[in-house]
Amino acid sequence: MDQLIDPFNRKITYLRVSVTDHCNYRCHYCRGEDHLTNTARDDLLSYEELARIVRLFSELGITKVRLTGGEPLLRKDILKLAIMLGEIPGIDDIPLSTNAHLLSPMAEQLQKAGINRVNISIDSLSQDRFKQITRGGDLDKVIQGIDAAIESGMHPIKLNMVVMRGVNDDEIEAMINFAIERKIDIRFIETMPIGTAGIDAVDHHYSEADILKRIHTHLPNRLVTTKSKQTSGPAKSYLISDTNTSVGTISAVSNNFCSSCNRVRLTAKGRLILCLGQKNSISLRDLLRLGKSDKEIKNMIVDAINRKPEKHEFDTDIDNIDGAQMVEIGG
Ligand code: SAM
Repeated sequence: MDQLIDPFNRKITYLRVSVTDHCNYRCHYCRGEDHLTNTARDDLLSYEELARIVRLFSELGITKVRLTGGEPLLRKDILKLAIMLGEIPGIDDIPLSTNAHLLSPMAEQLQKAGINRVNISIDSLSQDRFKQITRGGDLDKVIQGIDAAIESGMHPIKLNMVVMRGVNDDEIEAMINFAIERKIDIRFIETMPIGTAGIDAVDHHYSEADILKRIHTHLPNRLVTTKSKQTSGPAKSYLISDTNTSVGTISAVSNNFCSSCNRVRLTAKGRLILCLGQKNSISLRDLLRLGKSDKEIKNMIVDAINRKPEKHEFDTDIDNIDGAQMVEIGG
């Protein structure tokens, strides 16, 4: 089978697919206060177009496709998409990233449709604070969503908390306890300077080193280093002894993990983004709509991968993606 190998000898096996750039939350660090999403229906990739792109990627060696957004559960008939992607030979892992606001009534069906695991964003366990960070989110709904995911048998379930100094950094320990109680995993994410919102959020940057200090103090002698297939990405993770919970950090800024990057991103409008922190992209949607053949599109993908940048430059150049917002890129 063909493989996608970039000029830095990285094998690309993971595609993050944003299925919509709409979101029902407006997290401070993800999108600016005035940011509006008014993408027309026709500008979005249809499910048929999306499935065709994923099939072409799978023929080039992609095995994992994450559904993200915006908020992926807002996209109509998302179950249908999950089933379509699950039928593509070679795709054996279809995780979901969600804020879980709409998850509770859908978790079981999603699991049956092939969504085997889920990452859930949750930045606070205090109702008021949660509402403030998400600009209107409903913590109860999110917790119901987490519990429904557990009930459905999705595994692993990972909570993602963006840690912000002076905003929610006092909740690191409470969040670990919450994850332990539910026998699920937890990851603490450093703020990244993506878009105006992300750049503002970096004022509240809380470093990985500080997060790790807090984790070690909270769980003395209880952290066992892990290296599982699913955590071999950017997360650094530890199993907490005598629990079913792992705890980890994702620190794109303190700890540049680009040398092991195995992923590219597809936006809801069909743009292939080669690096989260760089501008380089091509429109696969335009190629499809121009009537290009599978072979021509695969050649363009291979050509794009040959231009994948070596690394992000969050530390030296904080707006090298032309002010795009994380909500449009998919995290
Ligand atoms: N709506 C879904 C969710 O809430 O997970 C998927 C999309 S969201 C853009 C994906 C991830 O990006 C979330 O975990 C979110 O916390 C993270 N994220 C967004 N902006 C960020 C930033 N500036 N720095 C770090 N993480 C960010």
